[in-house]
Amino acid sequence: MAYTKEMFEQAQQIIDARREENEAGAEGRRRLFESLEPDYKKWKTEMIDSIQSVLRAIEMSPEKAQTLIEEQKNRNLAAQQEIQVLLRKNGLAPDYLETKYTCPRCEDTGVSDGKLCACQIEVLKNLAFAEAGRKSPLKFSRFEDFRLDYYDDAYDKKYECSPRERMETILNFCKDYAADFDADSPSILMYGETGLGKTHLSLAIAGEVIGKGYHVLYNSAQNIFNELQKERFGKTDTNGQYEAMLLECDLLVMDDLGAEFSTQFTNAALYNIINTRINMSLPTIISTNMNMKELEERYTRRISSRLIGEYAALCFIGADVRQRKKDR
Ligand SMILES: [Zn+2]
Repeated sequence: MAYTKEMFEQAQQIIDARREENEAGAEGRRRLFESLEPDYKKWKTEMIDSIQSVLRAIEMSPEKAQTLIEEQKNRNLAAQQEIQVLLRKNGLAPDYLETKYTCPRCEDTGVSDGKLCACQIEVLKNLAFAEAGRKSPLKFSRFEDFRLDYYDDAYDKKYECSPRERMETILNFCKDYAADFDADSPSILMYGETGLGKTHLSLAIAGEVIGKGYHVLYNSAQNIFNELQKERFGKTDTNGQYEAMLLECDLLVMDDLGAEFSTQFTNAALYNIINTRINMSLPTIISTNMNMKELEERYTRRISSRLIGEYAALCFIGADVRQRKKDR
């Protein structure tokens, strides 16, 4: 994934702040221990002295140097052991005085083996997703605010249940999906007439899954295609980052598919997103006001067949609840 210069700078600031905080924490513990155990200072000085003494070996003959290094090593170890005795005496862990880095691999420098450390890549990813979230006009919703009583409880012959029963099943499915979400979760196609709560439930899932620490991208199909198009034709400085996020995020929520202005570009992009994510077994949630037949007519068969074949389909039924909300 490519990141902007600002994101790199911001990530480095975050990592630097972590390091400073962790080092200050260790320094604070050392000062506290010093006040608790005056002998600690003595042994600490002893350790530093032993290390400095080794530097004198440079001027010596090889045999003398060898002896000196050996002596100082023992002196250093002895001092370390004395400090451990003091720690034990105070009921403190052996590593109490050491700096506890958030990432021990790079010791919170952001670089390990001359490359960006995994911790810095994680920070960059979080920044990129937060930025994408800020750009999305969609706001998270909650399962608790989903009102089943807005749905008719009269039996519907066509679906062999009432809209309320159907929506209760769908609501429970979505709650379980969010609670159990992991890399193996299936993709979901939410379809049905407008105003039946598809956006509400998909964004409630997105909110919960983000809360679990996953990288989630959510936006309307129209905005997704707009962003992709801008990126493709060099109108942003994102350098392919948005497309990479669409293809690689842990969960993609694409709202209101079918409302976009359909072109060859949008159809090719849609196929690429759906196909790539299925091939990588990455879950996607798509909501649409179109039914299966309309999906087939609007998109090429290769798109509709993948949606119908690979996605768990949730058919929302009932009458537009947004009107009911206004009436009350
Ligand atoms: Zn690291």
